[in-house]
Amino acid sequence: MSEAFRQEVREWLEANCPPSMRGPVDPAEAFLAGGQRTDDHQLWIDRLHERGWTVPAWPKEYGGGGLDWEQNRILQDELRRINARPAVTGMGVTMIGPALLEFGTHEQKLEHLPKIASGEINWCQGYSEPNAGSDLASLRTKAVEDGDEYVINGQKIWTSGADRADWIFCLVRTDFDAPKHEGITFILFTMHQPGVTVKPIKLISGLSPFCETFFNDARALKKNVVGEVNKGWTVAKRLLQYERTSIGGIGGGGGSRENSMENVAKRYIGEQDGRIADDQIRSRVITHRMNDKAFSLTTRRNQEELKSGLAPGPASSMFKYYGTEQNKRRYELLLSIMGTQAVGWEGDSFDDYELGTTRAWLRSKANSIEGGTSEVQLNIIAKRVLELPEPPAANQG
Ligand SMILES: Cc1cc2nc3c(=O)[nH]c(=O)nc-3n(C[C@H](O)[C@H](O)[C@H](O)COP(=O)(O)OP(=O)(O)OC[C@H]3O[C@@H](n4cnc5c(N)ncnc54)[C@H](O)[C@@H]3O)c2cc1C
Repeated sequence: MSEAFRQEVREWLEANCPPSMRGPVDPAEAFLAGGQRTDDHQLWIDRLHERGWTVPAWPKEYGGGGLDWEQNRILQDELRRINARPAVTGMGVTMIGPALLEFGTHEQKLEHLPKIASGEINWCQGYSEPNAGSDLASLRTKAVEDGDEYVINGQKIWTSGADRADWIFCLVRTDFDAPKHEGITFILFTMHQPGVTVKPIKLISGLSPFCETFFNDARALKKNVVGEVNKGWTVAKRLLQYERTSIGGIGGGGGSRENSMENVAKRYIGEQDGRIADDQIRSRVITHRMNDKAFSLTTRRNQEELKSGLAPGPASSMFKYYGTEQNKRRYELLLSIMGTQAVGWEGDSFDDYELGTTRAWLRSKANSIEGGTSEVQLNIIAKRVLELPEPPAANQG
C-alpha cells in the first residue's frame, strides 16, 4: 500500500515539479529575489495546491491533502529526494494555520485555512509591543466590546511583513484588572481597514522587513476570537511553540551541493588530495557538518515522536535555541573561509553568492531574537523541560 503511494507520489512529482523549483535556495538567491514569486514558483504552488499538498497533513475540507502520518512522511521523503523547494511558506502555514487547527472553530477554519493553503492570504503576527518583548504578557494593546465587534487601540512593533499582510493574528488585553497572563485575548482581523496604520522600520541595509503597527479604533469581529476571551495566553504560547519549531528548522541546512561548506572551503582556500587544504578549517567544517547531521536527526526523531498528532511542547525551545545558534555558527565559519569576500555590500568585486552570504550572515543574528531570544529559550528549557528549581533570590545585601 505505502509502496504504491510512494510510486504515485514519485511519478507525480517528476511530472509536476518545475526543474527550477528543485535544489536548495542559496543565500544569494533568497536575498536578491526579495521575496517575489517567479512564474515557476506560482505554478509549483498551484499544482501542489490542487492536490492539497501545500499543507498535506491538513484535512481536505480546509484545503489540505488529508494525508495520514505515514503518507505525509513518504511525500516529505520524495520532496527531499528531488530537493523540491517548499511552495507556500510564511506565518500562515507555520503559525496561525496549526494554531487554528488546534483551537479554531469549524467556521474559523473554513474561513481562513483554505486561503492559507492556496497561498493567497498573507498573515502577520501582532505580539511584540514597545514595552512587551521577552515579557510578552505585559502587553497593553486594548480591545473593548462594541456589539458584535471589538474596538482595538494600541501599538505593536517588529511586525514582520505587516506592510504586505492581509490579516493579523493579534494579542490584545481585554481585562486590565486580571493578573497579566489572564486578561489577554487572541484575535484575528483584517489589516485592510482605516483603523490600522503600518510604518515600515528601515534598516541600515535599506530593507524594511518589519514595521510599527498602530491601531486607532481598529475593528475585529467577535467571531474571530480564537479560543476563549481572556484565555488567549494559552493559544499564544502554543503558536510560539509552532513558530520556534519552524525557526529552529533553519539549523542543519547546507545550501546547494555546489555551495556546500566543503565546496566553498575548497573554492576559497584551496584543495589538496581532494581535501580542504587548511587542516584547521577542515576540522571546523567537519565538526560543523557532524553537528548539523546530529541536529537534523534529532529534529526528525522528534517529528516521529509527534506522529501521534501531539502538538509541540516546551521542547520546541531546544530546537529553536540550537537551530538558530548553529545557523549563526555556520555563517561565522563561512566568513572565516571566505574572508573579506564575505563582507562585501555591493559592487563588481563580489559575486551574487558572496553578496548573499554577507546579508545571510547579518540576518542570522536576528533568528536568535525573533520568536523569543536565546536567553528566553534557555529559561524555558531550564524551567519547563529540565524542571530545574528557580535560582535563589539574588543577594540584595
Ligand atoms: C527579525 C525579527 C522579526 C520579528 N518579527 C516579529 C513579528 O512578526 N511579530 C512580533 O510580534 N514580534 C516580532 N519580533 C520581535 C521579537 O519577538 C522580540 O524582539 C523578542 O521577543 C525580544 O523582545 P525585545 O526586542 O523587546 O527585547 P527585550 O525583551 O527587551 O530583551 C532585551 C535583551 O534582554 C534579554 N532578556 C530579557 N528578558 C530576559 C530574561 N528573563 N532572562 C534573560 N535574558 C533576558 C533578552 O534575551 C535580550 O537579549 C521580531 C524580531 C526580530 C529580530
